Amino acid sequence: MSAPVAITVARGDGIGPEIMDAALRVMEAAGARIKPEFVTIGQELYLAGNSTGMDDRAWESIRGTRVIFKAPITTPQGGGYKSLNVTIRTALGLFANIRPVKALNPYIETHYPDMDLVIVRENEEDLYAGIEHKQTTDTTQCLKLITRPGSERIIRYAFEYARTYGRRKVTCMIKDNIMKISDGLFHQVFDEIAREYPDIEANQQIIDIGTARVATAPERYDVIVTTNLYGDIISDVVAEVSGSVGMAGSANIGMEAAMFEAIHGSAPDIAGKNVANPSGLLNAAVLMLAHIGQPDVAGLIHNAWLRTIEDGLHTADIYRPGHSLHLVGTSEFADAVAERVGQAPGRLDAWSLDSSRDTRITVPGYTRRPSRKQLVGSDLFIDWPGTEVNRIGRDMERLALEAGSALRLRWITNRGVKVYPEGFPEAAVTDHWRCRFVAASEPFDPVEHREITKLMEVLTGKGYEVIKTENLYLFDGEKGFSPAPGE
Ligand code: NAD
Repeated sequence: MSAPVAITVARGDGIGPEIMDAALRVMEAAGARIKPEFVTIGQELYLAGNSTGMDDRAWESIRGTRVIFKAPITTPQGGGYKSLNVTIRTALGLFANIRPVKALNPYIETHYPDMDLVIVRENEEDLYAGIEHKQTTDTTQCLKLITRPGSERIIRYAFEYARTYGRRKVTCMIKDNIMKISDGLFHQVFDEIAREYPDIEANQQIIDIGTARVATAPERYDVIVTTNLYGDIISDVVAEVSGSVGMAGSANIGMEAAMFEAIHGSAPDIAGKNVANPSGLLNAAVLMLAHIGQPDVAGLIHNAWLRTIEDGLHTADIYRPGHSLHLVGTSEFADAVAERVGQAPGRLDAWSLDSSRDTRITVPGYTRRPSRKQLVGSDLFIDWPGTEVNRIGRDMERLALEAGSALRLRWITNRGVKVYPEGFPEAAVTDHWRCRFVAASEPFDPVEHREITKLMEVLTGKGYEVIKTENLYLFDGEKGFSPAPGE
């Protein structure tokens, strides 16, 4: 028998303490080999002036245990409070968000009785990197970062998860028909890694149609892997259509630490009434026990929980007269699950993992494959309040010559639409102009950095405000930048 594993436990706010007590009681009954370290995080600390909702003592515990079992917390109303989940995720590098959702037909009402899927969402990158700027009076931007190490890690995690949990298919959902470079990289990495898992079916779908299908035919999906923003949206769609937001747990996994919680919030409207459903946190406990290598205990809890649901003992949120047998409170529900430890469900699918199986999923570190990088030009973004496309166009052509630069204007876009030369001047409705400069000789011939700085100096001297430059590179001869529309 393995030694108890230390875990950091946060009882949270609102219904947090009630559902946490319930979950811990069930874990104890099932013989979980854990050593909880209780910490206070959330509302109390926020209100005491700690903008992150966490103190040093909590961090110290988390750094030691590397596993956090967290009840929901209340973020006080008003500004200045940082999201505790985002802080923990970022500080610990929790790159994967895992959300399994399964219908419990016919016991819990659902439109999709055969739904049984897992969302594997990248948690650190994409538009959530928090790199935002207001660049001109008219224009703001948010950088979408998709990296190879980030993509490799999450996609490999999804395939390893599928293999470990006996799942058959992984679907990659992105929008690379539009974002050919960033989402295109995610897709490319997906194809590369999928080849290493011939035992698992791999397919790809555009996120918009994918989300629509998940909402109307979720039973077609098994494991879905996607980037941060799409994952955020589709996770909520999945939870909503499953009809049981109070039932799902989720895991946030990093290379060295992990956090487990219910997907719902602190439900202040029902706090302290012993009516909350502890199932979400219980399912988070199941994920945590598998993660720390105790799939035997995870299986006992999972089966006892299903048996309780089958026996018709339901909390108010899932109680349906005619289907449910007993309306129970939080603690009675926990007692019922604890009593059923050792029993298996009759109709619902029992835990199928072999208890000797190693359920600890690891992914290898990243090895960079260097590429040959060649500078071939630059997109200069200019804040210009004018509207005459020909004026800025001719100015850019003339000033590049005056600068004695090796660069020449190729075209100008306004919000991504080509407006010069021979574009759609009527599309030039903002003060945000992207001017592409490439070599005067052959476009995409190598250029030197100083050609760009020389040009910028001349443009700035003539009153054109360069708000940003984005250099254009070839990587191993391939263009690392998008062409103009229609180019
Ligand atoms: P919520 O999930 O707390 O509640 C939404 C509705 O679902 C409420 O009617 C609630 O009573 C019900 N509900 C939620 N969990 C339930 C359960 N286990 N059993 C029965 N009913 C349940 O969402 P909200 O009201 O938008 O947010 C309340 C607070 O929770 C806010 O302060 C929010 O910031 C916080 N929150 C925290 C987390 C987290 O800690 N991970 C996540 C989401 C929201």
